[in-house]
Amino acid sequence: MNAEIIAVGSELLLGQIVNTNARFLSQQLAVLGVNVYYHTVVGDNPDRLKTAIEIAEQRSNLIIFTGGLGPTKDDLTKETIARHIGKELVMDQAALESIELYFRKTNRAMTENNRKQALVLDGSHILPNDHGMAPGMVVEDDGHIYMLLPGPPKEMEPMFSQYGALALSLQLETNEQIVSRVLRFFGIGEAALETEIIDIIDRQSNPTIAPLAGDSEVTLRLTAKHIDLNTANSMLDELENTINKRVGEFFYGYDNTSLLEELTKCLKQKKMTIAAAESLTGGMFQQELTSIPGASSVIKGGVVCYSAEVKQNVLKVKQETIEKQGVVSEQCAKELAENVAALVSADIGISFTGVAGPEELEGKPVGTVYIGIAIKGRPTIVEKLNLGGTRNANRIRTVKYGCLYLLRY
Ligand code: ATP
Ligand code: MG
Repeated sequence: MNAEIIAVGSELLLGQIVNTNARFLSQQLAVLGVNVYYHTVVGDNPDRLKTAIEIAEQRSNLIIFTGGLGPTKDDLTKETIARHIGKELVMDQAALESIELYFRKTNRAMTENNRKQALVLDGSHILPNDHGMAPGMVVEDDGHIYMLLPGPPKEMEPMFSQYGALALSLQLETNEQIVSRVLRFFGIGEAALETEIIDIIDRQSNPTIAPLAGDSEVTLRLTAKHIDLNTANSMLDELENTINKRVGEFFYGYDNTSLLEELTKCLKQKKMTIAAAESLTGGMFQQELTSIPGASSVIKGGVVCYSAEVKQNVLKVKQETIEKQGVVSEQCAKELAENVAALVSADIGISFTGVAGPEELEGKPVGTVYIGIAIKGRPTIVEKLNLGGTRNANRIRTVKYGCLYLLRY
């Protein structure tokens, strides 16, 4: 099977963005054993798109489009293909419902344009969009397979990995098994992680590695194919081991898990309870942890100790500590963690104190954070962070770091 990728978007031609979609898809198609012979870029213009399709049809069986599935006037990929292959656009009920749900959730008014995003080519196989609104689709016509994917990489990449590849392998009638696994990392940036494993990424062919960053986390999707499922899985195991030998200290879980979910699981397994003393995070850690089902067997409670008085009066931080070292200090974090655990008789106490910003505090710069962890029968540890983000980003990352340290400890 020969494939061609047509990226639609005038911003690509103007050089405003780089065609990373073609790179991603080429890598993924290589795994599936599909030869990609051409990449085409065409602007948001129906006549030129039609010409590009006609040329592609002469040389490729599989034509993959990215971009132009959105709600605006310049988004015309599916309309142009529909006209070209003589198929109607029909409303996909499931897609419409998920778009309506999206608008209800975000409390925004849905416009007629947005309904347009739920129109699909008649008879096509739908690829759900878990990260946006426009669904993707695969349709066969006259010996060609057309796959339509959204433009934003954050939508397109997971859609292809989760649904598109499978749809294609069914079309290809290959008996090869495709398995994939997502490794999740926190505490290391995307660039730093890539640098650590760049030689592995450069050598990749099967399994492949696709990095993705977001929410201050980085994920790597590993995909292997083999006729034998067990072999495909061991190929993934081996690659995972190689990667984690380098960056394993930042790895925390697989697929769709989160740091808080992993922490809950881990504490449950160890039958340990936790209490939190939250200054800079103002209760965010407990709010997040209690949103995980099954948290009740794990979290005892805690104190939002935003002011120095509460630290001193409720959590018994020594006056001397506050006066000499300040509330943003290693010693204060230590006392907070130990005392909150004692206060509610939990096995573990965790504390968060720091400078969220925008102003510095006690002469300590914004982003200075101390996280104390007191575990029964072990010496208390205090980790110091220097975060560089905005106020809220610093608070969110602090909670995540707290989880990471607990998982490591
Ligand atoms: P939307 O619903 O966001 O309008 P869409 O499917 O209509 O999605 P486009 O409007 O073509 O897609 O592109 C939306 C954005 O996706 C672009 O502004 C760009 O940031 C990104 N994008 C589009 N095509 C590519 C590409 N080939 N490579 C990388 N990024 C792309
Ligand atoms: Mg668009």
